[in-house]
Amino acid sequence: MSNGNINHSKNTGKTRNKPVRNNKNKNTFLKGSSRKTEAADKKPYKKPESPAKAPVRKPEARKTEVRKPEVRKPETRKPEVRKPEVRKPEVRKPAPATFVKTPVRSASKKSRKQASRLKIIPLGGLEQIGMNITAFEYEDSIVVVDCGLSFPEDDMLGIDLVIPDVTYLKENIHKVKGFVITHGHEDHIGALPYVLKEVNVPIYSTKLTLGLITNKLREHNMVKTTKMKEVRHGQVINLGEFAIEFIKTNHSIQDASALAIYSPVGIVVHTGDFKVDYTPVFGDAIDLQRLAEIGKKGVLALMCDSTNAERPGFTMSERTVGHVFDNLFNENRNSRIIIATFASNVDRVQQIINTAYRYGRKVAVEGRSMVNIISVASELGYLRVPDQTLIEIDQVKNYPDDQVVLITTGSQGESMAALSRMAASIHKKITIKPNDTIIFSSNPIPGNEKAVSKVINELSMKGAKVIFQDAHVSGHACQEEIKLIYSLVRPRYAIPVHGEYRHLTAQAHIAEDLGYAKENIFILSSGNILELDENGAEVTGSVQTGAIYVDGLGVGDVGNVVLRDRQRLAEDGIIIVVMTLQRHSNVVMSGPDIVSRGFVYVKESEDLMEHAREAVRTALDSCSDRNINDWSRIKTEVKDALSSYVWKTTKRSPMILPIIMEA
Ligand SMILES: [Zn+2]
Ligand SMILES: [Zn+2]
Repeated sequence: MSNGNINHSKNTGKTRNKPVRNNKNKNTFLKGSSRKTEAADKKPYKKPESPAKAPVRKPEARKTEVRKPEVRKPETRKPEVRKPEVRKPEVRKPAPATFVKTPVRSASKKSRKQASRLKIIPLGGLEQIGMNITAFEYEDSIVVVDCGLSFPEDDMLGIDLVIPDVTYLKENIHKVKGFVITHGHEDHIGALPYVLKEVNVPIYSTKLTLGLITNKLREHNMVKTTKMKEVRHGQVINLGEFAIEFIKTNHSIQDASALAIYSPVGIVVHTGDFKVDYTPVFGDAIDLQRLAEIGKKGVLALMCDSTNAERPGFTMSERTVGHVFDNLFNENRNSRIIIATFASNVDRVQQIINTAYRYGRKVAVEGRSMVNIISVASELGYLRVPDQTLIEIDQVKNYPDDQVVLITTGSQGESMAALSRMAASIHKKITIKPNDTIIFSSNPIPGNEKAVSKVINELSMKGAKVIFQDAHVSGHACQEEIKLIYSLVRPRYAIPVHGEYRHLTAQAHIAEDLGYAKENIFILSSGNILELDENGAEVTGSVQTGAIYVDGLGVGDVGNVVLRDRQRLAEDGIIIVVMTLQRHSNVVMSGPDIVSRGFVYVKESEDLMEHAREAVRTALDSCSDRNINDWSRIKTEVKDALSSYVWKTTKRSPMILPIIMEA
């Protein structure tokens, strides 16, 4: 999906003399390890003229002690930037003592060539929603933030999931210290079971996130072979050259984290998916205070969620949905209530349970992913269900309509999800009836509108009342929240993440409004290598990235060729031509027989099929006249003749498969 995509990245403006540099790597996959940084070629870093420029940090020299990858309290942490010069110099100088004695020569070309820079390499997740995965690399350490999947597009026939190409991580496996996961949504954890098979390193995250990951790994029988370490908000873990602090945020799933990534050249703040919710349903509000403290230390770059960057204002608090539920339950006292929402939104489920309890209704849960997540969340204490509130789906029929609520999956119109099956009257246990009130507590994700509309039509035809308004708030920050984060973190560079190209540019415009110079805003493509240090930032090349299709048990065995075949088969069907030829002489012993599927209904098109056979016979005769004996040539001739005949008479181009048998 992102292979060879256009390089939209901006440079710092210092490469004006070498305009080719930024784009010449399009379609070329450079291995990060074999590429030279060419740092010495650059002019010195020019400070941004923006009012939001970061305070100048004094890098303190610090002993290179051996750090153990254990979880430490934030108080003991000293994430100050270390001088690049005290790090092991790659170029061995004859007099290392003098080298160490004159460390502050960062302006000179010579020493800058020796200093390492931080590399930020998004391996997916840019210019798309989904498949979030970003590598942070400094010398011999790579830390990977998130490892998500994306769901197939309409033209990816038969594909179940799409996962990122992690060739770069496999090639640098000795450097990879671990996965740091921001939260438990599929677009951040979904590819772990597949990627861990090749890059088996420990996973660090918060409790609920790890609970959901464990659940996923259990399905793949991988719990025992995977190391997982729970991290609490406020804690810092050390991974190679990096220290990573988990910071509490709000999102449409609990236990979401922003990350402060401390590297030897500066701090990068990654927001993860977030919103600012001052009155969350569960737990604390986002730790704005900590973000401000880190901002005061001086932050090199901010990677901020762009999903809602086009939307003005603030995202409403999750709690407002609770009030909406109260009103809806009140207005529909006599109906059976069915609510469709995202399986992972535990807070939403909690609010439905709370309202149901207040109105004396029992709650049943339907849909495999919903049941899974609710059981993990309540086991870990993220969901509080009053005793005897939950009932099994089989028991729903034993209660009067006004005493039950059904929470279900299918809010996106997914064809196999519970609500869609109810709407299509193929659900085994629930039959939709006129006294039902069905609430969609979700917005259709772009692309799902048609499917959702179909489900609503089907439900309405059965006489049910469908409510689609106000029973949802987003889990992502709108423009004013994004501005708040920039103002607290005050990064030197802005790197919009998580979104399609339009979302990323929307955030870039916000940053410009805040006074950031264009050259300090980087809109990256998946695979780009962004190198940065105190002196500057620039895209220096790219690594291999792409989308790997998962179809059933097959991972990566369905490529573009197979997909193109599937599309063709779906559009115009297939014609198979079978003929038996005598060995050597190539005399036709039997056939040609023509079999087709998905092309025309043969019984009503006998003429067409007879003429098609005639076209094949003519092609075979012509081959023998011209002394063409090679079977692959004969096949091509047959294929061409048949396809031109079919196109002339039907304007269709089915796949044509000639098969020659030997007599
Ligand atoms: Zn999310
Ligand atoms: Zn996400």
